Amino acid sequence: MADPLIRAELPYDLEDEYRPEPVPVPTPPAWQDGSYRIGIHCSIAGDIAGSLDIAAKLGANALQIFSASPRMWPRGGTRIAEADAARFRARRAALGLGPLVIHDNYLINLASPDRVMRARSIQAFHDEIVRAVSLGADFLVAHPGAAMGAPVGQAIAEIADGMRQAARGVKFGGLRILVENTSGMGSAVGSRFEEVQGILEAIADLPMGVCLDTAHTFEAGFDIGSEEGLEKTLDLVERTVGLGRVFVLHVNDSKTALGSRVDRHENIGFGKIGRKALGRILNHPRLGPGALAGRAFILETPIDRAGDDRRNVRALWELVGVDEEHAPKAEAGFSMVRGERKALTQRTPRTQRAQRKTGAVRKGKGRGKTGKKRAKK
Ligand SMILES: [Zn+2]
Ligand SMILES: [Zn+2]
Repeated sequence: MADPLIRAELPYDLEDEYRPEPVPVPTPPAWQDGSYRIGIHCSIAGDIAGSLDIAAKLGANALQIFSASPRMWPRGGTRIAEADAARFRARRAALGLGPLVIHDNYLINLASPDRVMRARSIQAFHDEIVRAVSLGADFLVAHPGAAMGAPVGQAIAEIADGMRQAARGVKFGGLRILVENTSGMGSAVGSRFEEVQGILEAIADLPMGVCLDTAHTFEAGFDIGSEEGLEKTLDLVERTVGLGRVFVLHVNDSKTALGSRVDRHENIGFGKIGRKALGRILNHPRLGPGALAGRAFILETPIDRAGDDRRNVRALWELVGVDEEHAPKAEAGFSMVRGERKALTQRTPRTQRAQRKTGAVRKGKGRGKTGKKRAKK
């Protein structure tokens, strides 16, 4: 008797074939849920993980940091110890912050005509990428560089080549490099979007994108303070680098005038761009999170008075129509500089400072009283 299970024509169903488990499609991170991501550049002084708590206390849900001192060439090892990086990543996950943006060192100049400086810059940029990956950063914002007399076309080629060399052998994971547009101060490359486009086109093999700084844009001569000016600028950005590649906006007001080519950031609503125009930018249908989920708006505003940082974060939430109840909770009275400022004023109360100016008090606490008496005369 024939086994009923063995049939002459066993239909072979492709579905029966053994196939390994499909690679799971990674679920997008929570910060790409289409909500507004508002952040601020936070200090890493003391402890790099402390920057995360600063962002949370300021009422931000995204942040930017330096991953090392921004105005010094690092000495010795520049890698972050894995235990510290793991603690950083865990704290970030616990606080639900994202995206995490890292800004590169100001000294790096991949376009430098000085060979030693350029080699040093490539090494430093390589270290930037390594540290960004170890911290689990989403974006590494880089200033293009300064041509220092070289033709712009050559500078662009050097920058692209430098970035490619710096990226050699690094597994990027989810990291993307963003080229920031500049005000065009000095011989800075990148004040024209065609220049930024040139860099991107020369590095098509790396995960790249753009960071658009509102102050730099304005200072470079694009009138984003007016409605027509903003439309024209967005059209130009679309035609050159493409708006879909602008993953981060630096939201800064400008101390200097349209086209000044002088890079001076100002608090939101106190500069030449103004609150209304910045609101128009944040809410623009081509720039808001509806156009690109997870696009972040990061402040790099000065802290002239303690609390300016917290007030600027609040200002952005207000501009996008999120009231205090619905925005991430800021800690009342918190500021990044509060502690330092307080200590300073405690050491030198106003009277004593005035006395010092008149020369009544030279030094030391002991003379304070006599100094005061003399100063009163
Ligand atoms: Zn920058
Ligand atoms: Zn910027």
